[in-house]
Amino acid sequence: MGIALGVADVQGSRRVSDIIAALRGAVGAAAVLTGADAAPWSRDWTGAYTWAPLCVVRPATTAEVSAVMRLAHENRVPVVPVSGNTGLAGGTVGDGAVMLSLDRMNRVQDIRTAARIAVVEAGVILSALHDAALAQGLVFPLTFGARGSCMVGGFVSTNAGGSNVLRYGNTRDLVLGLEVVMADGEVMNLMSELHKDNSGLNLKHLMIGAEGTLGVITRAVLKLVPKPTATATAMVALPSLDAALALLHRVQEATGGAVEAFEYMPRRYLQEYARRYPQARPPFATEYLHCVMVEIASSAPRDVTASTDGTVPLTALLETLLADMLEQGSVLDAVVAQNEAQRSEIWARREAAGPLSLSHSPMVNNDVAVPLDKVAVFLARMDARLATLDPAAVPLVVSHLGDGNVHYTVWPGSPDPAHCDAIMQAVEDEVLALGGSFSAEHGIGLAKRPSMARRKDRVAVAAMKSIKAALDPRGILNPGKVFPD
Ligand SMILES: Cc1cc2nc3c(=O)[nH]c(=O)nc-3n(C[C@H](O)[C@H](O)[C@H](O)COP(=O)(O)OP(=O)(O)OC[C@H]3O[C@@H](n4cnc5c(N)ncnc54)[C@H](O)[C@@H]3O)c2cc1C
Repeated sequence: MGIALGVADVQGSRRVSDIIAALRGAVGAAAVLTGADAAPWSRDWTGAYTWAPLCVVRPATTAEVSAVMRLAHENRVPVVPVSGNTGLAGGTVGDGAVMLSLDRMNRVQDIRTAARIAVVEAGVILSALHDAALAQGLVFPLTFGARGSCMVGGFVSTNAGGSNVLRYGNTRDLVLGLEVVMADGEVMNLMSELHKDNSGLNLKHLMIGAEGTLGVITRAVLKLVPKPTATATAMVALPSLDAALALLHRVQEATGGAVEAFEYMPRRYLQEYARRYPQARPPFATEYLHCVMVEIASSAPRDVTASTDGTVPLTALLETLLADMLEQGSVLDAVVAQNEAQRSEIWARREAAGPLSLSHSPMVNNDVAVPLDKVAVFLARMDARLATLDPAAVPLVVSHLGDGNVHYTVWPGSPDPAHCDAIMQAVEDEVLALGGSFSAEHGIGLAKRPSMARRKDRVAVAAMKSIKAALDPRGILNPGKVFPD
């Protein structure tokens, strides 16, 4: 799919070759790629979008990012910031744009263990940050399937969520400070290391989740937490989603809030996983309608110190609790991982969600949020809506149930775009009726702009557009994304 961006007067303001020459002057010839060299930045991870950028620029410092933005501003050239390019909303589409890749700005500049912070450049890959923190006995607690490719600038700009949100919050809760290059090349220093700072409007939060439309994030100060020294992970079959919620609350109460992940995988999802990965073991001999994976973790000696027979109290606690609930009938079956290999097996099932959803084309991709106690209602209502709208449609559901985020992918019976949009609108109807959001963690990009236009509060959209116009008056930063026309 090719998309024309809003700023298209590159030819009019200065010849393309002059602009590329000026960019080479600013960052060095080797850091400006064109033609075949730009190919890796010409499609998104899903393969749903392809485009032809003007060029790819790979600055190595904030000063170089600033020089690029100054040039772009003067010449009204569209700029699309890109990090790991794993975004799922088409946010990096850049026809005719300068793709501003932060991948060379990949230094973990400092880890201050006493302050529990990491100071990082925007191109640090999430898993590299995990490794750097772990080496100091600490954890950066944001994690999801794309951690081996996505980068700081990208996960901050999408306010990414993932599997640990119920314990640690989403990216917004983990960022203390930011350095941002503005549309005209000015550098805004918000590199605070503070947990409290009420000095005026909170511009950091404006930049988090802005998807590259308000500024280019070049550095960040991120929160770290103590490394859990014991983890207990289980796969649990339940009679209903209400029973799943009851399990979540029971484990939270019993552990003092130690649930790190609570992920819902219904039968349809697990069947699809078995089809695609036939060598993988099924979690249970019976195909249950509702399964969750639950993971708890602790660093408290009382939870993690093994007794003489090797029993770890945290694991024993989870086992006892599940055994109790099995006896009462509120849990149908359960397996608790006994080693790291079994834990990885459980996680692999959940983390296959991306490739599984994309294994079918076309697909209607929905990433929605509803209050925790409305997930079951939402799914039941959608079952009924789909049965009327498209009896041939297959919903592939997987959910960060612990925070109410449902990935509601539909493989429609017909590829007709109008039909796919009707399914999308049905999802939006049901989500909004339950007080939910049509975009939980993947952002808006291009994919959800129609939803923004028809569903977001009119006054809120107007306020967003005013902010965009004030910070990027020439409209060069990621034009055509997020804000509806
Ligand atoms: C297998 C898989 C699993 C995933 N699981 C999850 C999940 O559980 N939770 C979740 O939230 N997301 C998930 N995602 C989506 C994606 O990984 C996240 O949105 C991620 O945060 C994007 O990071 P990135 O570095 O790839 O950003 P990119 O895709 O490069 O960019 C994303 C957006 O941010 C902007 N941007 C990039 N860098 C900057 C910068 N330095 N300054 C300003 N703007 C910038 C871009 O213009 C674009 O709009 C998943 C993706 C995949 C492929």
